[in-house]
Amino acid sequence: MRMVRCLLLVALIASPAWAQNTDTVLTNGKIVTLEAAGIVEALAVTDGRIVATGRSDEIMRLAGPATRRIDLGGRTVIPGLIDSHMHAIRAALFYATEVNWIGARSIPEAMERVRDKAKAAKPGEWIIVAGGWTPPQFAEKRRPTQAELVAAAPDNPVYIQLFYSNALLTPAGFAALNITRDEDVPPRGTLERDADGKPTGWIAGDNPTISGLFDKLPLPTFEQSVAGTKQFFRELNRLGLTGVSDPGGFNLTAESYRPLFRVWRDNALTVRVIYSLFAQRRGKELEDIQAMTQMLPMGFGDDWLRFNGIGENVTWGLYNNDAPTEAQKQQYYEIARWAASRGMTLTQHWNNNKSVHHLLDVIERVNNEIPIGKLRWSVVHLNDATQESLARMKALGLGWLMQNAMYFQGEAFLRERGNEAMRLTPPIKTALNMGLTVGGGTDAHRVMSYNPFVSLQWMLDGKTVGGTATRDLDETPSRAEALRLYTVGSTWFTHDESRRGSLRAGKLADLAVLAQDYMTMPVGEIGALTSLLTMVGGRIVYAAEPYAALEEKLR
Ligand SMILES: [Zn+2]
Repeated sequence: MRMVRCLLLVALIASPAWAQNTDTVLTNGKIVTLEAAGIVEALAVTDGRIVATGRSDEIMRLAGPATRRIDLGGRTVIPGLIDSHMHAIRAALFYATEVNWIGARSIPEAMERVRDKAKAAKPGEWIIVAGGWTPPQFAEKRRPTQAELVAAAPDNPVYIQLFYSNALLTPAGFAALNITRDEDVPPRGTLERDADGKPTGWIAGDNPTISGLFDKLPLPTFEQSVAGTKQFFRELNRLGLTGVSDPGGFNLTAESYRPLFRVWRDNALTVRVIYSLFAQRRGKELEDIQAMTQMLPMGFGDDWLRFNGIGENVTWGLYNNDAPTEAQKQQYYEIARWAASRGMTLTQHWNNNKSVHHLLDVIERVNNEIPIGKLRWSVVHLNDATQESLARMKALGLGWLMQNAMYFQGEAFLRERGNEAMRLTPPIKTALNMGLTVGGGTDAHRVMSYNPFVSLQWMLDGKTVGGTATRDLDETPSRAEALRLYTVGSTWFTHDESRRGSLRAGKLADLAVLAQDYMTMPVGEIGALTSLLTMVGGRIVYAAEPYAALEEKLR
């Protein structure tokens, strides 16, 4: 059989007809395949898939007169990056209308972005920064003040979100939302006051407070959200991303998916989106999920857009709750058991190792009745996971979705938990050594930047945005291991490691040609990497010089 296939391949390669069908060849590169082939020079693509990898001269023989030929000029190519936990659908909705502070190094730089937006905005139009920043990233190491914001945007209401704990509004913002006292702020929110009892403009609260506040802001129009989705995905392509796994999120309704579905129907997606359903109504979780999935079976969709089960919120009772009651665990058990009976994947947000036994107990109970090993369930975050928790996850067949939360929160974690805990957080190498499946990602865009190279750099040097060293060398993966988490690792959670994640014949042609060599460049510069050419399913969805002319306009 092997011999026959081999002969067939030779015959095909020798045939000019086959050569003419080759859509694209990339040659003279350093192509990191993440396959047994290691690093190869060249690769050929036909009908959206890789058809061959090898030496440049071998691959050139597959090119016919109509074949697009790309000279890589020695550049490094990696498999397209896949963020296995990004709130990308929500980020996309607002991308055309929000301001972001990603990468801003000082408060004046952040204020300049607000000022630019305010100049272009109509009077009264909201200026919104919905998170994705942290004070240690600024040279000043502090939050901006209301006076600084008013100076940048005197004629517009402004809303600035800091994680899910604080928001800063200008007086015009407070007036627009009719907030004058604590009682006007959604549940458990308070107006911060200075030493003289005067409100500072900052509101303090928790997840429901900040989500409730955000819900009071006007939504972008459908057209703005469609445009935002295309723009955001192109921005992800610029950073070498070709796929995301989306876990829903707060402030998302069924209607929120319509712009994404429009872009998919228009055949204009440039990032593959695999999504799960996040429970929205407290107490109605099972009812809602059953209703929504009656005509949405597990795996429904295509390689561009596909349904992948439930989470990261399955029940409100087990969301950010370190001490769930028996009744709350029973409710979770019933939904998880139902999901298992339907062959559904489940992904669960959990922050703290000290309480994760509650979750693992419930999943073990389900697994005793309906084995979940093949369903690829996962625990998300769990930055301070112990070896014991990881071993319980491994035994259940659970994967671990790990993000660079410590890049923003390392200083706070260090203050609260001390150096001994910090140097193991998160335990990336321990998990890999145990054979656990780990997916890389960011959790963007409200709590983290969506930049995968920032996350990769953080995996390798353990430094926060403020430059503080955190994780030990013992818990530091190699460059290839880190890259593998962000590609092959991520595909396990979406059941498509046979189609994506590495570069070999038969797989989808998803790849990025990098501006510098990720494998050898200084680690401290990896966060500033960009792609010069990003291909998804054989389409060149993003290109910069010297390849700019090759970008295919889908929009
Ligand atoms: Zn989460």
